[in-house]
Amino acid sequence: NTFSSLHLPEFLTSNVENLKYTKLTPVQKYAIPIIDSKRDLMACAQTGSGKTAAFLIPIIKSLSENGTESPASAVAFPKALIMAPTRELCRQIFTAARHLCRGSNIKCAYIYGGIEMNKSRRNIQATGCDILVATPGRLIHFLELVWLSLRYLQFFVLDEADRMLDSDGFYESVTKIYNEANFSGDDRSIQISMFSATFPNEIQTLARNLLKNYLFLAV
Ligand code: AMP
Repeated sequence: NTFSSLHLPEFLTSNVENLKYTKLTPVQKYAIPIIDSKRDLMACAQTGSGKTAAFLIPIIKSLSENGTESPASAVAFPKALIMAPTRELCRQIFTAARHLCRGSNIKCAYIYGGIEMNKSRRNIQATGCDILVATPGRLIHFLELVWLSLRYLQFFVLDEADRMLDSDGFYESVTKIYNEANFSGDDRSIQISMFSATFPNEIQTLARNLLKNYLFLAV
């Protein structure tokens, strides 16, 4: 149940220590090795379970090992995309990601409604975006404008998927992401995780359609 069992890179170990995390929470103990092994995951986990770090830690570990070189371009090419229902949750995930990435070259960014589009775009261009946290509606806009490409996407996380069912454009963006990143291929290399506090029919259907050979985790 310790972080040392995960063989994290040094910067990540020290960032976890700075956050005063000593033991893995149950969702971290089981989800981290699954994401690490690139298996898809459907996890039933509540807010407060430590789920944010459960998906961020293996993503950051992998990106730090595989390099974060992106082509210089007006289009942003995230390696990891995290979709969340609200601006507040996006900010929280972004803040956690930025903490956990300290001391690495991994760049974190967010886009959500309510911020001027061009400002968000400039922000992403200035800082880069290996890990992008986004709300569904704004994500669609960026994809439609081709300000964002999912060509180099390696990880896709749907956080609080059940709460996103109410979001404007949730299904539309999942469909768009699905088509753009070519999730349907059997040989796809994108790892997809869904986190949800509840498991209603819509989420079960989405999991069946979106995930491939996935593991189901309930904590
Ligand atoms: P979350 O479920 O991701 O919203 O996380 C809930 C809270 O638990 C956040 O404030 C995290 O910083 C904290 N947290 C996450 N992982 C751990 C851990 N292993 N030990 C202690 N606190 C943690």
